[in-house]
Amino acid sequence: MRPEHEATLAHCRNLPSPPGIALRVIELAQDPEVDMATTADVIAMDMALSARMLRIANSPLYASRRRIDNLGQALTMLGLNATLSLALGFSMVQGLRRSFGNTELHERIWRRSVVSSLAARVLGQARGLRKPEELMLAGLLQDIGILALLQAVPERYQALQATSPLEPQALLEAERAAFGGDHAEVGAWVARQWHLPEYLCAAIERSESMPDGREPFAACVALSHCVSEIWLGEDPEAARELALARVQEVLQLDRERFEKVLERIGEMLPEVGALFDVRIPQPELVESILDQARELSTLRNLRELQEMGDARRQADESEHRARHLAEQASRDALTGVYNRHQLGSTLEHEFDLAVRHGWPLSVAFIDLDDFKRVNDVHGHLVGDEVLRTFAQSLQRLLRTSDTIARFGGEEFLIVLPNTNAEAALAVVQRVLAETVRVPMAQLESGPLHITFSAGLATQGDGRLFESVDALLKAADNVLYRSKHRGRNRVTVYAEAAAG
Ligand code: GH3
Ligand code: MG
Ligand code: MG
Repeated sequence: MRPEHEATLAHCRNLPSPPGIALRVIELAQDPEVDMATTADVIAMDMALSARMLRIANSPLYASRRRIDNLGQALTMLGLNATLSLALGFSMVQGLRRSFGNTELHERIWRRSVVSSLAARVLGQARGLRKPEELMLAGLLQDIGILALLQAVPERYQALQATSPLEPQALLEAERAAFGGDHAEVGAWVARQWHLPEYLCAAIERSESMPDGREPFAACVALSHCVSEIWLGEDPEAARELALARVQEVLQLDRERFEKVLERIGEMLPEVGALFDVRIPQPELVESILDQARELSTLRNLRELQEMGDARRQADESEHRARHLAEQASRDALTGVYNRHQLGSTLEHEFDLAVRHGWPLSVAFIDLDDFKRVNDVHGHLVGDEVLRTFAQSLQRLLRTSDTIARFGGEEFLIVLPNTNAEAALAVVQRVLAETVRVPMAQLESGPLHITFSAGLATQGDGRLFESVDALLKAADNVLYRSKHRGRNRVTVYAEAAAG
């Protein structure tokens, strides 16, 4: 910039200085000893700024899972550098908007600053840059030179804007011709006058230069204007093609990633616009990108729901299978009633309950009569069928609270909880009567009938066995008594003891 023009700007009384709060933040940003507590104190003094910091911390820019509801939490989440950059952005815009003019042209410039700010941030993130808030700030303040020129030489600058408003390159050339420097140079000069951080001044200075991929920070700021044209220009489609071509060339982002950039900007723009009090409508092409993204996410959610359902079903199935296997392990393969192993634990449990509560517990040993002959005469398969049919008839005739187990061979044990000797005897006799009456197999030679012998022992009723084994032994003893007495009968232990 020519010295005489610098002098014009320097002596321009209209050129505002940043508001007090922004000056404080600038000081903090330049202090190498700055800490979060001091920063928080400065921000907390400005209600509007505090509110904006809180709001941005809860915005989609920082997709935090939990709600942040005080300034301290917000600043801690953002970190010191991000806090300083954001605070500077908010306080500068807030103050400068008040002190600079507020014509339609000014409003257009602020709208462009806000979209460019977000575009610089999202482009930088897509390119893997680490400093989103610094990018936002540079994007936001890059047109400070235009505002300064509008303030210093309003008639001349507005006339210049009117002659080449749509052609950025033509405007820059006209600016250089008229003022010896373009608005980027003027902006950097103003920024240095204001003691803004040097990286910011440099980015403003290069905001209208050819973007260079080797310096991605400055390139993202320089490209942000042409991306913002998609929202603010007359022809969004053409603006998109132009922006895509430049972004591809400079930042090596392909079409797909560029669409993602537009989607991100579109998602966050309503909130960021609200933070800076500007309203920027989404062009149709961005709306349709957002619609597609919403559709995809609905589909994704649906698929997740479906996958969750499938996972639950699978878990249910495997649990069912596991239970089934456990059941199988406790059941006798031929007859399906409990095996001896399972009988052991059931009996222990029932015996325990009976002793503890003084409830009666009856057990009956059942041994099929002359079963060897069934096998010998009709064959093993018929023997198996008889065992199966007999076990089924036991299940049919007994209560579900009773336990039926195959003790081994043609011997079964039934456990009758809460049943005294008298009732148990009635049950076993009824079972015997049914067993005798109903054929256990239909053979060519005719129906096959069997009988059994049983021994019954009862815990309770005044008789206390020491253990399960003692109870079983008693039942076994009287079973042999039934055999000796001629089979096809039930003997009760007490009876045996008496007789
Ligand atoms: P008792 O009236 O004295 O009880 O005579 P029994 O023939 O029933 O007694 P024994 O203990 O002499 O014979 C039992 C028979 O039961 C012998 C065995 O072959 C048969 N048996 C044991 N388990 C099975 C089985 O799983 N299937 C078949 N078919 N027969 C079995
Ligand atoms: Mg037998
Ligand atoms: Mg036997």
